[in-house]
Amino acid sequence: MSTAAPEKHAFQAETQQVLDIVINSLYTDKEIFIRELISNASDATEKLRHLQLKEEAVFQADQELEIEVSFEEEAKTITIRDRGIGMNRDELMENLGTIAHSGSKAFLKAVAEGGTKNENVIGQFGVGFYSAFMVAKRVEVFTRSYSPDESGLLWVSEGAGEYTIEPASEELDRGTKIIIHLKDEFEEFAKDWKLKSIIKKYSAFVQFPISLGDEKINTVQAIWLRSKSEVKEEEYKEFYKFQSNAFDEPLTWMHFSADAPIAINSILYVPTENPERLGMGRTEPAVALHCRKVLIDSKPDGLLPEWMRFAKGVVDSSDLPLNISRESMQDSSLVAKLNQVLTKRFLKHLAEIAKKDEDLYKKIWDAFSVFLKEGVATDFTHRDALAKLLRYESSSTEPGKLTSLDAYLDRAQEEQKEIYFLFGQNREAIEAGPYLEAFKARDLEVLFVYEPIDEYVMNHLREYQEKKLVSADQDDLELGEAKDQPEGESLAEDVSKNLTDWIKEKLGDRVKEVKVSDRLVDSPALVLSGDKFMSAQMKQMMKSMGQDANLPEEGSILQINPRHPLIKKIAVSYATRGEEMETIIEQIFDNARMAAGLLEDPKDMIARIYKLLEKASE
Ligand code: ADP
Ligand code: MG
Repeated sequence: MSTAAPEKHAFQAETQQVLDIVINSLYTDKEIFIRELISNASDATEKLRHLQLKEEAVFQADQELEIEVSFEEEAKTITIRDRGIGMNRDELMENLGTIAHSGSKAFLKAVAEGGTKNENVIGQFGVGFYSAFMVAKRVEVFTRSYSPDESGLLWVSEGAGEYTIEPASEELDRGTKIIIHLKDEFEEFAKDWKLKSIIKKYSAFVQFPISLGDEKINTVQAIWLRSKSEVKEEEYKEFYKFQSNAFDEPLTWMHFSADAPIAINSILYVPTENPERLGMGRTEPAVALHCRKVLIDSKPDGLLPEWMRFAKGVVDSSDLPLNISRESMQDSSLVAKLNQVLTKRFLKHLAEIAKKDEDLYKKIWDAFSVFLKEGVATDFTHRDALAKLLRYESSSTEPGKLTSLDAYLDRAQEEQKEIYFLFGQNREAIEAGPYLEAFKARDLEVLFVYEPIDEYVMNHLREYQEKKLVSADQDDLELGEAKDQPEGESLAEDVSKNLTDWIKEKLGDRVKEVKVSDRLVDSPALVLSGDKFMSAQMKQMMKSMGQDANLPEEGSILQINPRHPLIKKIAVSYATRGEEMETIIEQIFDNARMAAGLLEDPKDMIARIYKLLEKASE
């Protein structure tokens, strides 16, 4: 056949980087290269099946779709053969010479972020094809594209810097045959029992038959099509690991089948780990879409709402047209329907866990609450069901224990029209702050919210069971009579009016308004947010994160306690001892800001306190 010399090509720089990391890693599970190569063989075969469904011209269209593994103990080689789509010359260069594909890119990023500790990273990403170089001194890829116009090619590399491509010297069947020439120290992989156990371990759910010599290793099974009662717990877990390439266990799963309004067979898993929390970037949707066992898209956008991107698993609908393309999927009304039905079911599943198994729900909440909260803020259709799943600490829970909004309302007083919440760094900060006392005095429960996202949750949810969600540091709350009326006479109305005018004049633009309030019990004064949509604490937090650029500058409101002895003293003295009273009111204002966590620079306040102390010691 052809006598052309092999063409030499250099690996793209990043590719070589991936190769070096993989080759030099001490990663103990070297055996995963088998899983990766079989998974590629399966992907390529899946693609071929798809093309045939779309009735494209395919070279050797009647081949059995099977994956064959063989080995030669003496020669220390392992061969993996598929009847998939194969590759032409450009595809060989693009797919095996560069890392345009997602897995290896994400891998490099994770390695860069995680420093040299890449043991787990290799396990997580698999890094696909290149993992072969963990055990191989040379890899040969014989491949022939499905396209009738292409001919057979041979790609060879030793993993160091370059690879070659040449026409294959013999006539090739369609698909790809990869020969791994093992390094001496890894010769044990070229053994029957070893290969069998590895394939069994990792490839049980591959949707094509795998043979090793004469033996069929796997029984192809789409467990999502079987009835719930027939599938063992262990199988669900194994399938999860296979399907999502995961190393954790699922926390829970939902196996759901229906015929109407649309045919669905699905298994949706909740993982244990939340990779977004581990700083691995945004999770891609990973619930694969099938039609009668044929994979349509392993990462379909729009099959489930964005916030459900933490879920793993498969959805199979025999109602979908087999030749649906990725593009037309997006605006398919069938897919929209699947989305509706599955999301509703999934939320119901979570609600049932929340009811029956508090501990399990706590684990789900701890790992994935941020997605459920995102859902409340962004998914109007399922907002109520999502809101039911929210959990917070509150002034009525013990530290660390959480309450639902429903439980809050069960405890609420009959005439209570609002649900109160307070934003703060943590429980201690909120309890030590000035806002809670008015609610305590009236036996009103307040939810404690700690995460910036909660502020958005509250603003988007706005009400729950027809009760408004209200930040407890708002200025114009009508809290009603306190259970224990604060002691002491209150200032007369006209005296209060003059006093607040005077204070406003002294504090100037630093406050939007000064007013008397009967919500205060022990403190002389309180600073409140003048912004309906964002608490003062939230603003402060955003400032500290450098995100205040676009925040509207709205002054805070100072409320004073007309029963407090100090306020009463000022009321009778400011006309005659203006200067002294001004210093005192300045100090009260700073104290209130400090209690609210809003005092940025204490320098002036400290100087003032020294002055006051000096006076007191005279
Ligand atoms: P990934 O599978 O995540 O895309 P890999 O490193 O495993 O990354 O594979 C890189 C690419 O090489 C695949 O996307 C595919 O295009 C191509 N490839 C690998 N193995 C085969 C094969 N057996 N048949 C056809 N194409 C393959
Ligand atoms: Mg792969």
